[in-house]
Amino acid sequence: MGYFNQYVRAESLEEAYGLYQKKNNFVLGGMLWLKMRKRPFGTAIDLSDLGLDQIEEDEKEFRIGAYVSLRELETNEALNTYTKGAFAESVKHIVGVQFRNVATVGGSLWGRYGFSDVMTIFRAMGAKVQLHHAGILDLDEFVKMPRKTRDILVSVIVPKKVKAVVYLSQRNQSTDFPVLTCAVAKREEGYVAAVGATPHLAENVWDKEGILTEINEESIEKFAAKVAEQIRFGSNMRAGAAYRRIVCQVLVKRALHTIVAENNGEEEKC
Ligand SMILES: Cc1cc2nc3c(=O)[nH]c(=O)nc-3n(C[C@H](O)[C@H](O)[C@H](O)COP(=O)(O)OP(=O)(O)OC[C@H]3O[C@@H](n4cnc5c(N)ncnc54)[C@H](O)[C@@H]3O)c2cc1C
Repeated sequence: MGYFNQYVRAESLEEAYGLYQKKNNFVLGGMLWLKMRKRPFGTAIDLSDLGLDQIEEDEKEFRIGAYVSLRELETNEALNTYTKGAFAESVKHIVGVQFRNVATVGGSLWGRYGFSDVMTIFRAMGAKVQLHHAGILDLDEFVKMPRKTRDILVSVIVPKKVKAVVYLSQRNQSTDFPVLTCAVAKREEGYVAAVGATPHLAENVWDKEGILTEINEESIEKFAAKVAEQIRFGSNMRAGAAYRRIVCQVLVKRALHTIVAENNGEEEKC
């Protein structure tokens, strides 16, 4: 069980950033992951007074504060209307409602966990993160930053450039960590599949060749095979690499079938 020596409720991002520069000090999220650390921490920096628990929307984007809970992602009407429930689907299998009331968006992305459902949906959506010091970065750049970086994640920006998105995951058992996560999005630039829990961090595969320009059984099959070929799969206690590759193809195909069905105004088929 982790414990810390001091607690500060920051009055500004600048104060929080300054405190965080000292080794062993840390930013508080919901503490669900942090609490498992065995070594003692220095100062716990609480951002609760900085208004980071809001989801704002304008015509161009959603801006999701770092202290927004996973439960809010699940229940937020505007976000789930825009994504036809994909955000709700991406988090609803994570442990339970009380847990999701506490887990934060900031803590979920900052941890860059390989198993992350949250990272998978945001990558497919083309999200950006706003860091206090480094400014606005594509999530693709953020995931490459050294883990030692001491910055404050302020918000996640989801540009409204997604025409359709479907989220699916496979778990051996309800509420367990996922065996595979998958989000397929039709973005302004084309189709993209984000696949995570491989067990590595979610990565994107784009339809660069325009396989899905004409969408039918054959092209869906071909794109799913391409995604499974490009993603790096590994084995762990939850599943082997070969099984994950098969599941990946199935989930990508199901997601694409659902996008087609939704576009045609049909009921979801998967
Ligand atoms: C038992 C268990 C099961 C889980 N299952 C799943 C699952 O199936 N799918 C899934 O996607 N996730 C899962 N998770 C992860 C979980 O959803 C949270 O993402 C995770 O616990 C971290 O969220 P938190 O808000 O508690 O962050 P914390 O534990 O408080 O923080 C995590 C890290 O982020 C840093 N941090 C937090 N906020 C900021 C910020 N604003 N700026 C800079 N750094 C910050 C902290 O200092 C710390 O290093 C699971 C976690 C646990 C413990």
